[in-house]
Amino acid sequence: MKISVIGTGYVGLVSGTCFAETGVDVVCVDVDQRKIDMLNNGQIPIYEPGLDDIYKRNVEKGRLKFTTGLADSLQDTEAVFIAVGTPPDEDGSADLKYVLAVAREIGQNMDHYMVVATKSTVPVGTSVKVKEAILEELKKRKVDIPFDVASNPEFLKEGSAVEDFLRPDRIVIGTESEKAQKVMKRLYKPFLLNGHPILFMDITSAEMTKYAANSMLATRISFINDIANLCEIMGADIDAVRKGIGSDPRIGNKFLYPGTGYGGSCFPKDVQALIRTADEHGHSLDILKAVEKVNDRQKSVLFHKIYSHFNGDLKGRRFALWGLAFKPKTDDMREAPSLVVIEKLLQAGATVTAYDPVAMDEARRILGDKITFAKDEYEACIDADGLVLITEWPEFRLPNFKVLERLLKDKLIFDGRNIYDPSELQELSFTYYPIGRKSVK
Ligand code: NAD
Repeated sequence: MKISVIGTGYVGLVSGTCFAETGVDVVCVDVDQRKIDMLNNGQIPIYEPGLDDIYKRNVEKGRLKFTTGLADSLQDTEAVFIAVGTPPDEDGSADLKYVLAVAREIGQNMDHYMVVATKSTVPVGTSVKVKEAILEELKKRKVDIPFDVASNPEFLKEGSAVEDFLRPDRIVIGTESEKAQKVMKRLYKPFLLNGHPILFMDITSAEMTKYAANSMLATRISFINDIANLCEIMGADIDAVRKGIGSDPRIGNKFLYPGTGYGGSCFPKDVQALIRTADEHGHSLDILKAVEKVNDRQKSVLFHKIYSHFNGDLKGRRFALWGLAFKPKTDDMREAPSLVVIEKLLQAGATVTAYDPVAMDEARRILGDKITFAKDEYEACIDADGLVLITEWPEFRLPNFKVLERLLKDKLIFDGRNIYDPSELQELSFTYYPIGRKSVK
């Protein structure tokens, strides 16, 4: 089989590489010449655990190719996956200009039957627009080439994208033709040997499924954050409450960790886009509006703890900040809560020295010289007024507190992810501020 994947970001590159791993010939296309040059020179433009190995293996086998030429990539292809970005428009709705530009280009160049599957997260109704865009181009060319559209939303998670793609919980595919179903079933069969299902449905439901899934997950995060804040006020411990509710199988214990708010390239924009879609159709998604509001507030919770510890006097103070990416095991800084904390600290007259195992290049690109960067987590702490933990990278979980005691000016930790044991820090005479639990002073 031969397929094309348009867009070589987190989704496109991982999908293309994993499809190649099953023996399929894959051409990955991007308009970003820099990315394509890197990929053709053995370099991967993003950080994703496990990607390096399968990328190298499949490039060597000649099954995985990279180009900026969409037209050529369509030659002999059975399915083309659209995996370009869908950033939020000014009004919060998903901006479809990249998806529709690709659809038009496909229409301008296709010369045989293919399935055009949208992998990007797109609002309900987009597949119809993709189909119309292709038909319009075929009409201009005065040709009648059969094709099918499909919605194939992607559920991989940055940080475990390869594992998620190779062993998915489920594959969701919206189609309106048996022929398209057959092509998709063949392509995905190797990934479903674990017995997990491929769920065929109508296109509208498939498009809705992706937004509903991300909105549900964002809701859990805002819910537990809101309860955590109340725990603090009432003297309860969110960690006990989390375990107490999570052991009920109707609730489950996953995705119930309080923190500094959700970020990344998906939840904020997808929640916003679904609210917008509903508003446009005269339905107000009030729960999701509250989810957004709670999340915005949560991004400042850690800063408020720092501010009140120092009685508002942050001028001239310097903080060590551990973790910049929006979550561990990724270099993605889009909508990262660290950016909000950093901005607030700088505005209050403080300075920041940060360390992240993989996101520092990306952070440098965004923040320039607004903050300084350390070569490791301990260097960041030298003479700092306190340590602020934002992203729970595994290597931050068991630091040498004796060394921290020596390096920090004050034995002071603000923990945005509750990764430390309050009783241990109490024994070591640290001042410790977690989220939704009693502080140690
Ligand atoms: P990304 O920004 O990392 O990558 C998008 C790529 O598309 C870029 O490399 C860009 O240059 C390329 N592109 C834009 N226009 C193009 C064109 N006309 N032709 C070819 N390439 C073009 O985005 P991403 O994180 O991979 O996300 C892609 C889509 O998948 C989005 O809709 C996103 O919501 C969705 N999604 C993302 C994730 C995730 O974890 N990142 C998970 C599931 C779904």
